[in-house]
Amino acid sequence: MQRGSDEIGGILLTETKETMKISRRRPPRFELIAGNVSLDFVNTLDDRHINPKELLETYLDLVRFGGDAGLLSSPQVDRLFERSYIEPNLAARVLHQASELREAIHDVFWAIMNKRPAPPAALARLNADAQAAAGHMHLVPTKNGFEWRFDDFGDFDSLLWPIARAAADLLASDQLAYVRACSSKTCEWFFLDTSKNHHRRWCDMTRCGNRAKVQRFYVRKKSSGEL
Ligand SMILES: [Zn+2]
Repeated sequence: MQRGSDEIGGILLTETKETMKISRRRPPRFELIAGNVSLDFVNTLDDRHINPKELLETYLDLVRFGGDAGLLSSPQVDRLFERSYIEPNLAARVLHQASELREAIHDVFWAIMNKRPAPPAALARLNADAQAAAGHMHLVPTKNGFEWRFDDFGDFDSLLWPIARAAADLLASDQLAYVRACSSKTCEWFFLDTSKNHHRRWCDMTRCGNRAKVQRFYVRKKSSGEL
């Protein structure tokens, strides 16, 4: 077999142009409405409290989340896709890690929203992942000064670094008070309420807000005998 191409999972992938073409064909899969990547990440367990639906069933789903959220470029997505076929055990381990980090982030923010102390085990987990992420950061000069950047996203778990970091930064910021869960009991997606008056109730008006409005309209009509 020629260098630069490989038969993986029945699909012929070459290292450069072909894989880039494949990634361009991929439509976004995740609804990113939270305004913070760590909260969007929490929302990948959909309908969490009533009928949980796992949106990260495979490592490929996790990588696609990274792509949709802008943490990984298309070529990086393709590279991790390919490598996960070659090292499936490592990919599975990182998927498990991702799920543990996600639940830790959820548990910490959920406790805070409900005016309870953050569960120590969840906070310890988030701390450990945030510290690991910090070990992959370096300062680079920019036009106006410096900024933190992460090492090259070649490692299987590299897309977890900015997620852990975003959660840690949010916890230590004055935005913490504006982390909310959607008011729909069948949704409860997390988001950062950046609205002017901080009265946002819904993850998304079309997804949950309108549904609730229709429901209220129906109840009102029914109780007034109009339906
Ligand atoms: Zn919602």
